[in-house]
Amino acid sequence: MRRLDRREFQRLVLGCGLAALVPGGLPGCGRDDGDPADYTAEDVRLLAEQMQREAEQAGRGRFGPLRFRGYRGLAELPWFELSPEGRLRTVVELPGIIDIHTHFGMSVVLPLDQTRRSERVEHLLDCDATNPGCPLDLDVYVNANFSHEAHQGLSRELLKGAFGRGATRTHTGANLLAEMDDVGVARAAVLPIELGLPLLVSLSERWIRTIQEQDWQDRLLPFASVHPGDADAPARLRALAAAGARGVKLHPEMQRFHPDAPEAMAVYAECERLGLPVVFHTGRSGIEPEGLRHFALPRRYQPAVAAFPGVRFVFGHGGARDLEAAIPIARAHRNVWLGLSSLGVSQIDRALAALGPDRLVFGSDWPFYHLATTLAKILIVTRGDDGARDALLRHNADALLG
Ligand SMILES: [Zn+2]
Repeated sequence: MRRLDRREFQRLVLGCGLAALVPGGLPGCGRDDGDPADYTAEDVRLLAEQMQREAEQAGRGRFGPLRFRGYRGLAELPWFELSPEGRLRTVVELPGIIDIHTHFGMSVVLPLDQTRRSERVEHLLDCDATNPGCPLDLDVYVNANFSHEAHQGLSRELLKGAFGRGATRTHTGANLLAEMDDVGVARAAVLPIELGLPLLVSLSERWIRTIQEQDWQDRLLPFASVHPGDADAPARLRALAAAGARGVKLHPEMQRFHPDAPEAMAVYAECERLGLPVVFHTGRSGIEPEGLRHFALPRRYQPAVAAFPGVRFVFGHGGARDLEAAIPIARAHRNVWLGLSSLGVSQIDRALAALGPDRLVFGSDWPFYHLATTLAKILIVTRGDDGARDALLRHNADALLG
């Protein structure tokens, strides 16, 4: 294989995959792709309105202001403290939490040493880089906490991370397990994303193997990802399930497919045969390139969940800034759960009121954020309701994972 320099890699190989996470995108990315015809002016308006309303109302809901300094600042809440080494940890008894949404470092070119421990995890949105940390408001969609510069830094980190460099060196299985121990997470689903581009390694295979070799299966549940555009996707899925995959992760924006496309339907059909749940990225986060947003509109997921009532689907990020469009789909389809990663406290409260406690599951999106970020929000919203708390933190995910 010819050596690619970083620039060439960015253009040719990484393409626009990681661009879904990066404001402004990468050079040559963010153009309209697929069939954006039904991305309407009304869609554009709804996103802008959600962002504006959220900014105006943050801290004015029934939970009041929820602003902290860094992830460490969450130690002010009654459920957390800082250890003598400065690590944030849980101080109350919680049911062994199940996290439906984590990733290892997306080192798609060079392998990462998954056993490496670091003094501090440099989360992709690194709110503890300074002390005191960055202002962290739990009452907004999480990415609203990060400045333009921080988002530019994220873009650089993702590129370095493809080569196993930079902050990604700290996004290891060993560091994830240590943070899980700190906050009381018993088990976590680890989600690869298959970019469907040549020359990249399969994270699915590599991560399944690592988890087995390290004997981490009791705590880390490896998921598989396939690219729906790959004609061999159903066969690959069978092989990955045989190797030990516990579910499937699909990201319509990063993988650039519509969730209701025929080739995606073939993937869900295979998931049904294999009994594998699907964790989707769902909805618009508001920081992805505009040209990718049409892939993630909740209405494009409805035909999928309707056609496969036997498949358990998680809408990751609960539909993100499109939560209001995701709620009626979850209400109409019992096989849909909303993942809670990234949502603000008022959004989680709204989802709980609309759907009840049985349809929501804890997800952290580690290593983007500290595991305690979404945990703190759930503890705030479910204060005084242990039944709902246990359902969101553990029992629903238990049922979902089978
Ligand atoms: Zn994620």
